[in-house]
Amino acid sequence: MTTLPLLTPGRGDGDPAAPARRRASMPPRHLADLDLAGRRAAVGDLGAQAFRANQISGHYFGRLERDPAAMTDIPATDRDRLTGALLPHLLTPVRELDCDGGTTRKNLWRLHDGSLVESVLMGYPDRVTVCVSSQAGCGMACPFCATGQAGLTRNLSTAEIIDQVVWFAGVAARGELPGCPPRLSRVVFMGMGEPLANYPRVIDAVRRLTSPAPEGLGLSQRHITVSTVGLVPAIRKLCDEDLSVTLALSLHAPDDDLRDELVPVNQRWKVAEVLDAAWTYAERTGRRVSIEYAMIKDVNDQPWRADLLGKLLSGRLAHVNLIPLNPTPGSRWDASPKPVEREFVRRLRAAGVSTTVRDTRGREIDGACGQLAAAEVDA
Ligand code: SAH
Repeated sequence: MTTLPLLTPGRGDGDPAAPARRRASMPPRHLADLDLAGRRAAVGDLGAQAFRANQISGHYFGRLERDPAAMTDIPATDRDRLTGALLPHLLTPVRELDCDGGTTRKNLWRLHDGSLVESVLMGYPDRVTVCVSSQAGCGMACPFCATGQAGLTRNLSTAEIIDQVVWFAGVAARGELPGCPPRLSRVVFMGMGEPLANYPRVIDAVRRLTSPAPEGLGLSQRHITVSTVGLVPAIRKLCDEDLSVTLALSLHAPDDDLRDELVPVNQRWKVAEVLDAAWTYAERTGRRVSIEYAMIKDVNDQPWRADLLGKLLSGRLAHVNLIPLNPTPGSRWDASPKPVEREFVRRLRAAGVSTTVRDTRGREIDGACGQLAAAEVDA
C-alpha cells in the first residue's frame, strides 16, 4: 500500500487553517446537474450562444477535462463567465490511497460544505469499475456497516455523484492504471449512502452517466449497479423508469427475525415484500437481481439459513454475491471462517442458485464494502 500525500496543504486533518465545518448544504449548480437542453438554456441566460453548452459539455464528458483553464477553444471572456457558473469546484481530494500496484484507489473528498465522502476505483485487466457515494453518511443504521454508524449528513447532488466518476474516468484515460483498459466502464452505487433514499438525484445521475457525450458519459446501463437496503416503494418506482441497470439487494438474512436487526429498514418492509419487489424488477428488465449477503460468523452463516435462502431464491432471476464481512472498528462481529463460507456456497448452488464470493479489493486501504467511514478523519 502506498500513502499518497495530502493534495490540499492547509486543508488537512487537524490543521488549524482547515475551514470550520459549515452547516451541511447542497452545492451550487453544476452542468452535470442539467441535461443538455437545461445547459443550453443556462448558457443563454448568461448571454452566450447555446452551442457553448455543447462545447463545455464535450470537454467535461467527452474529454474528461474538469479544469476550465484547459478549455481554450472558448474565448476567455465567455470561458470565465460560463465555467464560473456551470463548473463550480465540487470535490477537493483530501486523501488519496492506493494498493494492488495502483489498480485499487480510494479518494476521500471534501465537499463545499465540509462534508466528507469516499469513492473507490477498482481496475482489472478487462474492466475499470468505480464505487461511488450517493450520500454523505447514511441513515439506514445497519450495525455492521461503518458508514451506517455515523448517521446521515446529507444527500449528494447529481453532479457530486457524477464528478466522482468523471474524476476516475480521467485517471483511467490518462493510462494511470497499470494493466487496465483506459476506459472506465462500470459504476456501482455501493459507496457511502443509500442510493434509493436520494432517489431523484441518483436516477438523474444514472441517466447522465448513460447518455452519450456530450450530454453524458455514454456508459452502458447494464454496467451500472444500484445497491439498496430494500426501500420497497423506491424499488417499485425504479421498475417504471425504463432503465436496465442492475439492482443489488442487500439482504444479509433470509428470515425477518435476523434481518430486522442487521438491516433495520426490514422492520418496515419484510423479506417477502422486498423480494417480491425485486422479482418485479427482474421481470420488467430481464436483469438478474444481485442478492448481497455479508457472511458474519455465527450470525447469519448457519447451514439452515443457506437452505432457507436457497429456497427463497430457487428458480428466480437472481445471483448471490457473498461478501466476507469486513469487521468495522469496535464491532463485535467477524467474518465467517472459509469452510463455513464454502458450505454456504455449496448449499446455495445445490438449490440451483448461482453464487459467487466477492473479492475483498481495497481492504488494506479501508476501501472494501462497509469500510467507508470518512468521518473518522475528523477525530
Ligand atoms: N446502502 C446500499 C449501498 C451501500 S453498501 C446498500 O446497503 O445496499 C454496499 C454493500 O456493502 C451493501 O450490500 C452493504 O450491506 C455491504 N456492507 C456494508 N458493510 C459491510 C461490511 N462491514 N462488510 C461487508 N459488507 C458490508
